[in-house]
Amino acid sequence: MSQQGYVAAPPYSQSQPGIGGFGPPNSSIHYGHYGDPNSSYSAPQPGVSKSAVPFGSPAPVGPPPPGAQQFSPNSFQNGSGTPGQQPQRFQGPPPPAQLADQLNSMQINSYGPGTAPSSSVSPGHRAAFQGPQVLPPAQQQMGLPPAPQLPPPPANSVNGLCAQPALPPVARQGGIPGPVPPNPNLQHLPGQPPGPGYHPQQANYGPQMAAPQLSYPGAFPGGPAQLAGPPQKKLDPDSIPSPIQVIENDKAARGGQVYATNTRGQVPPLVTTNCVIQDQGHASPRYIRCTTYCFPVTSDMAKQARIPLAAVIQPFAAVPPNETPLYLVNHGETGPIRCNRCKAYMCPFMQFIEGGRRYQCGFCNCINDVPQFFFQHLDHMGRRIDHYERPELSLGSYEYVATSDYCRDKKPPNPPAFIFMIDVSYRNIKSGLVKLICDELKTLLDKLPREEQEESSAIRVGFVTYNKVLHFFNVKSSLAQPQMMVVTDVAEVFVPLLDGFLVDFEESRSVVTNLLDQIPELFADTNESETIFAPVIQAGMEALKAAECAGKLFLFHSSLPTAEAPGKLKNRDDKKLLNTDKEKTLFQPQGNYEALAKDCVANGCCVNLFLFPTQYVDVASMGLVTMYTGGTLYKYNNFQLDADSPQFLSDLRKDIQKKMGFDATMRVRTSTGFRATDFFGAIYMNNTTDVEMAAVDCDKAVTVEFKHDDKLNEDTGALIQCAVLYTSLSGQRRIRIHNIGLNCSSQLADVYRTCETDALINFFAKSAFKAILSQPLKTVRDILVNQTAHMLACYKKNCASPAAVSQLILPDTMKVLPVYMNCLLKSCVLASRPEIPTDERAFHRQLIMAMGVADTQLFFYPLLLPIHSLDLKSDAVPAAIRCSEERLSEGGAFLLANGLRMFLWLGASVSSELIQGLFNVPSFAHISTEATSLPDLDNPFSKKLKHILAQIQSQKPHTMKLMVVKQREQPEMLFRQFLVEDKSIYGGASYVDFLVCIHKEISQLLS
Ligand SMILES: [Zn+2]
Repeated sequence: MSQQGYVAAPPYSQSQPGIGGFGPPNSSIHYGHYGDPNSSYSAPQPGVSKSAVPFGSPAPVGPPPPGAQQFSPNSFQNGSGTPGQQPQRFQGPPPPAQLADQLNSMQINSYGPGTAPSSSVSPGHRAAFQGPQVLPPAQQQMGLPPAPQLPPPPANSVNGLCAQPALPPVARQGGIPGPVPPNPNLQHLPGQPPGPGYHPQQANYGPQMAAPQLSYPGAFPGGPAQLAGPPQKKLDPDSIPSPIQVIENDKAARGGQVYATNTRGQVPPLVTTNCVIQDQGHASPRYIRCTTYCFPVTSDMAKQARIPLAAVIQPFAAVPPNETPLYLVNHGETGPIRCNRCKAYMCPFMQFIEGGRRYQCGFCNCINDVPQFFFQHLDHMGRRIDHYERPELSLGSYEYVATSDYCRDKKPPNPPAFIFMIDVSYRNIKSGLVKLICDELKTLLDKLPREEQEESSAIRVGFVTYNKVLHFFNVKSSLAQPQMMVVTDVAEVFVPLLDGFLVDFEESRSVVTNLLDQIPELFADTNESETIFAPVIQAGMEALKAAECAGKLFLFHSSLPTAEAPGKLKNRDDKKLLNTDKEKTLFQPQGNYEALAKDCVANGCCVNLFLFPTQYVDVASMGLVTMYTGGTLYKYNNFQLDADSPQFLSDLRKDIQKKMGFDATMRVRTSTGFRATDFFGAIYMNNTTDVEMAAVDCDKAVTVEFKHDDKLNEDTGALIQCAVLYTSLSGQRRIRIHNIGLNCSSQLADVYRTCETDALINFFAKSAFKAILSQPLKTVRDILVNQTAHMLACYKKNCASPAAVSQLILPDTMKVLPVYMNCLLKSCVLASRPEIPTDERAFHRQLIMAMGVADTQLFFYPLLLPIHSLDLKSDAVPAAIRCSEERLSEGGAFLLANGLRMFLWLGASVSSELIQGLFNVPSFAHISTEATSLPDLDNPFSKKLKHILAQIQSQKPHTMKLMVVKQREQPEMLFRQFLVEDKSIYGGASYVDFLVCIHKEISQLLS
């Protein structure tokens, strides 16, 4: 224990009655054991009373402690505070000064209603972003040609819309709209009652949104014939909003700073901006990001804007070492203090009254008695004098120790277990995969995750191999040799041994090592090529159940399970289903996999699946259990031992060591007036409120949608509390709490000003990918386009100053919504193209359902770095460029990463010096494109690039395999799919074309 800063803080010491009463004498670790070992105790500031010692943030970057002077109670407490009075740290993205050049050059103006068009491009108007009620949000306005003059796109567009090759020039903007054909489905405007068959509030793909009524206006029925028209000049890509500019502006404004979460409704820095987060009463954006930080007060307003009200919650997100980890709070035998009525947990949103004897719940307003052990006097501000001493009173995030009431059968849980289940059929043996796995496990099992304060991991391990039958292994430490037990009855799987199956690796090291040495030999001569799958999961689950513990299965599997057994699958991949109403069936599971998943969740059994397919394996079915149980699916197509081992082993190592919670249930509570209505993620829902997760790790995020059920209150705001009950790595039952407060406003402009496009895209991706299980893909794509247009049209109509119909006006916070939305529409999941393997689409769908905001941002808009101009003297990563072919250069080298793959693209005339430095070969022609990694060379350029690669990789859950691509060679086609601003090879619209399409939609909505 080196975190004396926490241990020494008197408020958390063992002697406090009712707080530290848990565990052994050294239980002070419960308060500080998450701490950064390097952090040091910050002594109380002069003039600050002892009780105000901050329990957090001895961060090296030197943020001030959460002292009273900057920690206003108004900032998060329910009731008295008004957001307008609080210090606003948010300076508003992006600084207009930096945009000015760009804006001027492209005839796009940024201004709000009542402001002269030119005024807000002057730096002086930065202040406009600093207070909620000062000015309406900044916006981007651009002249685009009158929409109706646009030709329809060719039929081969992937989005089914918006793909025309050329556009009228910007200069044609005249502000005079052409005739707009009336569209009966879209006639109603914001504020008007919805027309028949069209319900703007039903943005989440309800069954009532039948396809015929939803048919996207101007649904581009035409084929190439309609393309006729004069050749048109292309719109200058530099004149439309750049995602890179937005990202860089935010970095410049907020990067490297301390972001304190002391203000309700404060918009955090973008997910792409590095900063140090200090919890001062609201959950860090690493844990919760919202689509907007200001909810409309009424559901009518919400329906008008159609901005999804959602939070992306990543409850176990990793925090960097310079940020304070979560404190563990123990309320003793009675368990955590909770509101009698709504069961919300004690948190900063509770208002203490009557001298501290009672408190009013911020969520349901119920008045509760303060339990005696928790009583504390209030100061002259009405705040408890121990406010800063208790995480549950002053922090956005913390954990509670749960009592036996929170355990299955009221019994404390056993530590979790990992079971390794290896497919030993012919192909896996011959490819060397089985030996690779066994060799790796021998060293990897020393790195099982453990609690910070513990020396070894409490996790027990077990081993199973299988082909058409199951082999269980007894690896009890007292045995000289491991023992194998074969289960041939796969219809009714039972666990043949309890004692000796799940063991402590330390204790059984020699037997386990012996086993791992023997497995490849044992099956060396196998010619069994058929496999089972569902019975393997069943067996793992039964073993955990028998051992009365939660845990995680690691399955290493290669083929479609065709052996006669439950869960047998057949190849049902049928390209003829594409673009039909039955396409959705390709994403639905076969057979009983859903029931199996449900069983696994009920028993706290998480399933991790490592797939090594050479052909269709029905990922939609095989991956379902993984997705529903909070597991991770890894897929290595045509696995080659030499080329692909590094990627696989890196994934396996990362996965095994992940910090995570087991047997988890998440509950999201809200203040009155709204509630959580839909949940998207690697989760299972048994009812409408409890999110069940057999396990939840640092990378998994649940996206929660909220709806109004009453009017919200601008004074008290919209409060959210997410509680995750789970079993820790050591087998302790805990409740992790994340609280966040949002503002509410009757002004739509406030809602738009605080939107976060990255979170919006996460929401749209997940809701669309859920919807494709039940609706035709075209309907889903249409809804996405439709809703985008609606959100932007509502802004133009209600928040922007009057502008010509031909003006496309984008709110500042949604400037890049169209480009990101187009990327989502072009993603392989939504692209119904026969060239894209069905398994690949199902795989991406399942991955994205579980992603957090940072991962979806990178996935949909890849990072593209020019590496030929690396600054070798600086540690910095070069500034990214836009994902478009025209940003590449023949003489350059570019790195592209999207979280799953990485490409190194080399221009045909890239300098030989660079080639030598990177590949140690004399010329372009000598570069091998077979390599999946760069050689380790002793020169600064190579080292720098390797460092950048490692840096990009380190923050991502999946290991990205590197592919070297030479300009004008065939594999370049693959790379080009990731140049997402361009027209896709599968026909998806370019960014420019999509923007024009959206503009047309907006014009129609407003005409
Ligand atoms: Zn309550």
